[in-house]
Amino acid sequence: MNDQQEKKATVVPVIGRFAPSPTGPLHFGTLLAALGSYLFAKSSGGRWLLRIEDLDPPRTIPGSADMILILLEKLGFEWDGEVVYQSRCYDRYRQTLEQLHKNRQVFACSCTRREILASAPQLGEEGPVYPGTCRNGAHGKRVERAIRLRVPDENISYCDGIFGLQSQNLEQEVGDFVLHRVDGLFAYQLAVVVDDIDAGVTQVIRGADLLSSTPRQIYLYQCLNAVPPDYSHLPLAFGDNGKKLSKRNGSIGLVDLKNGSQMLWWALEFLGQSPPKELRYTTPVELLRWGRENFQAASISTENRQIKF
Ligand code: GLU
Repeated sequence: MNDQQEKKATVVPVIGRFAPSPTGPLHFGTLLAALGSYLFAKSSGGRWLLRIEDLDPPRTIPGSADMILILLEKLGFEWDGEVVYQSRCYDRYRQTLEQLHKNRQVFACSCTRREILASAPQLGEEGPVYPGTCRNGAHGKRVERAIRLRVPDENISYCDGIFGLQSQNLEQEVGDFVLHRVDGLFAYQLAVVVDDIDAGVTQVIRGADLLSSTPRQIYLYQCLNAVPPDYSHLPLAFGDNGKKLSKRNGSIGLVDLKNGSQMLWWALEFLGQSPPKELRYTTPVELLRWGRENFQAASISTENRQIKF
């Protein structure tokens, strides 16, 4: 084998993914994650997988997964392999919890929300920091409310492909976090890691609202003796009202077949790719082709911005 062949043989193929939650129709914010993850994977000759994160039945809107898939297909996105549905993976989440239980990495917690709020040393980015109350056994004969992962008092650091060096002390900034609730709900943090490991995902591209979840996920990879993927987070788009553009904040930015080309053009523009103006009137398929051929990851900024369509 010459040098070049050897290099090729050892390069790990890129496996990216897009993992929308089916909580409503396709939205500009979600389109950014679809396009960003697609361009990163496809411009490096990788695979791009699709997973529907229908983990949380009360938030899932019936029919929206199909609507998202049909629209993506019509816009010209081509994914590799079968679509994975989290609602069909509960056995894997259960097995993983058992494994963590055997290794004494999780514990049963009986605290109520109110108790945690009252005893938390501080409010973290995502609510009160869990103070470790049940770490050494839920007190008395109280009912078990959740399974939590025991986290270390140390910094988990990683280099984000867009936001650069990130670091978080899990114990001080988040606390032992929930993996499973007694009502049967598996936590997003657990499901996303199990699914990405099972699919061999090497690259995670998603919105910057998940930046602060990433250290928790990296720690879970460590607990499961798995290698975490590379992470890049995309800037967020805000509407006129200064709120994150999402299906919850009104209908501005909804993507449909009629505005598909314009929305894709705006998404390329938002991701710093500067698509030529004349491409606004071309087909979505052409825009995606242009995007793949001209993709520059370095042009994506870290700045969340307002967008006016
Ligand atoms: N399902 C999440 C969402 O729609 C994305 C999760 C991820 O990419 O890790 O916001």
